[in-house]
Amino acid sequence: MLAAHRDNVENRGIDGCEMKRPLRVMKFGGTSVGDSACIARVAEIVRAAACESSVVVVVSAMSGVTNHLIEAANSAEANDQGQVARIFDALREQHEKALAALIRSDESRARLAKSTEEIFAQGERLCEGTYLLRELTPRTLDAVSSLGERLSAPIVAGKLAELGVPSDSIDAGELIVTDSYHGGAAPLMEATRERAQARLSSQLGQGIVPVVTGFIGANAQGVLTTLGRGGSDYSATILGAALDADEVVIWTDVDGVLTADPRLVPDARTIPEISYREAAELAYFGAKVLHPKTLRPIMPAGIPVWIRNSFAPDRAGTKITASGRSNGGGVKALTAIQDVALIAVGGPGIVGLPDVVGRTFSTTAEVRANVLLISQSSSQNDICFIVTATDAKRTVEALRTEFAQDVAHEKVEHITVDPNIAIVAVVGENMHGTPGVAGRTFSALGQQGVNVIAIAQGSSESNISFVVEEKCMKTALLSVHREFGLGAPSAAERTGSLRS
Ligand code: ADP
Ligand code: ASP
Ligand code: MG
Repeated sequence: MLAAHRDNVENRGIDGCEMKRPLRVMKFGGTSVGDSACIARVAEIVRAAACESSVVVVVSAMSGVTNHLIEAANSAEANDQGQVARIFDALREQHEKALAALIRSDESRARLAKSTEEIFAQGERLCEGTYLLRELTPRTLDAVSSLGERLSAPIVAGKLAELGVPSDSIDAGELIVTDSYHGGAAPLMEATRERAQARLSSQLGQGIVPVVTGFIGANAQGVLTTLGRGGSDYSATILGAALDADEVVIWTDVDGVLTADPRLVPDARTIPEISYREAAELAYFGAKVLHPKTLRPIMPAGIPVWIRNSFAPDRAGTKITASGRSNGGGVKALTAIQDVALIAVGGPGIVGLPDVVGRTFSTTAEVRANVLLISQSSSQNDICFIVTATDAKRTVEALRTEFAQDVAHEKVEHITVDPNIAIVAVVGENMHGTPGVAGRTFSALGQQGVNVIAIAQGSSESNISFVVEEKCMKTALLSVHREFGLGAPSAAERTGSLRS
């Protein structure tokens, strides 16, 4: 436990009774802080939580802001100064409007407006440098894309202060120490633990709620990094682990982890409890509700993570724990990921070449490509694997360089890439030992005429994933969701069960 924090707060018992305050890290995503009404709702949620526990808040940028900032940086590189100016004007207006609606005290509003303007001025200078050099480095892109969180955190802290909750906005660069991999930095947990505890323990001890920027870290030299798109979930669990929190709550715009993406499967249902492993599989295979690395930091300590709806805080949400609760039936949820590409390395000449597999995957590792699925077929003489779309171009280029000699001598005949595919994953820890899951999955797909391009099942048997043409992805999800009865019961089913 965060020692200093615990000692202090335990002594602040009411009427002499000793009070032990648990520590919660609460993260609010982009839609949860999307406008002034949303931020007001968030502040109420934090105020209520701060009555019963110590709270560290982690915030994303207001929704859409990070995309606009990245567009501004790309426009600067492309020398489109008009577009950069338009984007910054719109972002200024959005944040000024939020400030005007949320902060009643003239003094606080003026102070916040000044610091907001300083952040915008920094952003414009970064874009100007990019425009002059005609080069957008990953380091500069991180500096620009992180501005959204640096703008939203002080606004949320300001609103909390107006509600009488002492709070302080903190740049996560002061807390989360990462490596120097811009655009997808990895945390250095020991250093982060030291930094975060040293910086936050006295604040927490005094009952102050730190409002920390999500998505951001800094390397050992203090240079700003980002954890990758959607990385604020990861920021929350990194801090949860570093501070030995009792729980992490990820507040978003849906009721929890659902049996499938509700935008694709309208009758998807909220899962009350799910295991770390199941949730991690879903996140890894595209369930946007969690950044793929979210569960890594807290799994060793067994810290529970809740997913809850900031627009409906009375609903229970989903609890993610080490064991999860069994649903008895094996399959718990489905997910799909479409921003991916299938790369094949092959030709008759590769059969019997012992080093092709090794060279293929050391090449993907060298370019730090995220390999999501691997399948080898000896009849097709192919090794095929799937990488995220953003990694595809540099992976194929690196493979073509690696195998240039072999292609010239026709040992390796082709290196191809197909971006028009999707992976669908069927997830459930209890699939292990439940016979027939694969059979039912593939016959449901067959009945809908969905052609399966490749299949992979991990030895853990908590995931069967398969590759389909992108245009068949939705049909695949709907048919497997129906096959395993994952959806909300129909009105007729509900009436039937009431009668019986
Ligand atoms: P935030 O801005 O709060 O980080 P995100 O947009 O990143 O929110 O993630 C929430 C979205 O994830 C939901 O609106 C939903 O459309 C999508 N999603 C995809 N798969 C699932 C799933 N299995 N359960 C819940 N939401 C899902
Ligand atoms: N604002 C960042 C993004 O849009 C991080 C996050 O929202 O989690 O990717
Ligand atoms: Mg997110």
